[in-house]
Amino acid sequence: VTAALLSGREVAARLRARASEVLAECAAAGITVRLAIVVATADESAAWYVRSLRAATARLGIECEVTELSPSAMATEVSTVLEELSANALVHGIALQTPLPAGLSLAQTASAIDPAKDVDGSSALSLGRLLAGLPAFAPATAQAVLELLDFHGVGVSGRRAVVVGRSVVVGKPVAQLLLARDATVTVCHSRTPELAAVTREADVLVVAAGRPGLITADHVRPGAVVIDVGTNTTDDGSLTGDVDAASVGAVAGGLSPVPGGVGLVTTAQLLLNTVTAASRARLLAS
Ligand code: NAD
Repeated sequence: VTAALLSGREVAARLRARASEVLAECAAAGITVRLAIVVATADESAAWYVRSLRAATARLGIECEVTELSPSAMATEVSTVLEELSANALVHGIALQTPLPAGLSLAQTASAIDPAKDVDGSSALSLGRLLAGLPAFAPATAQAVLELLDFHGVGVSGRRAVVVGRSVVVGKPVAQLLLARDATVTVCHSRTPELAAVTREADVLVVAAGRPGLITADHVRPGAVVIDVGTNTTDDGSLTGDVDAASVGAVAGGLSPVPGGVGLVTTAQLLLNTVTAASRARLLAS
């Protein structure tokens, strides 16, 4: 393996340190910061993420409440819970976990979240503001990719970036963030012919497909930076990314690990967004 390891550990620690500072200001003002997570899926990697969020909020000192709905919940049921949490002044951040029950659109369902509490940037309003270059919380995973690149000194301005995956949770917002940083961005998806020919053009390759081992050495230009967003659970319960780390590590210039890469940063980013939302609510109220 020759690729530099683009670990998320230190990046996450820095984001948590910033979150701690804001949290201390909130505590001094008598505010207990609270994150509400709404889950309506039996997906294993979603469960893994919620467990890690619970642990991370507890360590930092943020209250965390999880509302578990059925994986076959109706749109109105999910929206009602989101509206109640939005109206609850004790809740500062709301994260709607994906995947959602079949037939529900994330951006539409998440539009029941008060934009000020939309700490995972899921609603149509937050996504639209991101597209328009207006201030908004970006989806935490997409922001985490940029934080990871920044921390490791990977500039994207003027460079070719290729994103594999076009979900509203990761692919599209990460492409938008890269574009806002002046990268030339190509988005690939399941209908892209000759994927390897496109990904080989990338200086920076971001992979969020949910397909273990999709990206091999053949997909990567020597020296390119590869960010693996995939979190796939294996039969033995461990996590694996979308990138075949053994072969890609031998050609890439840098590679983010799974676990220990984007996932760690995502969790920390969501904590930072939550305390930021609480702090803004406090300033608005004073
Ligand atoms: P999704 O299923 O909504 O979207 C997957 C995307 O990948 C689609 O746009 C699809 O067209 C594309 N795709 C699928 N197979 C492909 C192929 N063979 N070639 C090219 N494109 C292909 O998934 P998602 O919610 O965007 O998540 C993607 C991955 O990222 C999953 O593994 C998920 O668990 C992970 N994830 C990680 C984090 C984190 O914090 N690390 C957060 C969210 C999602």
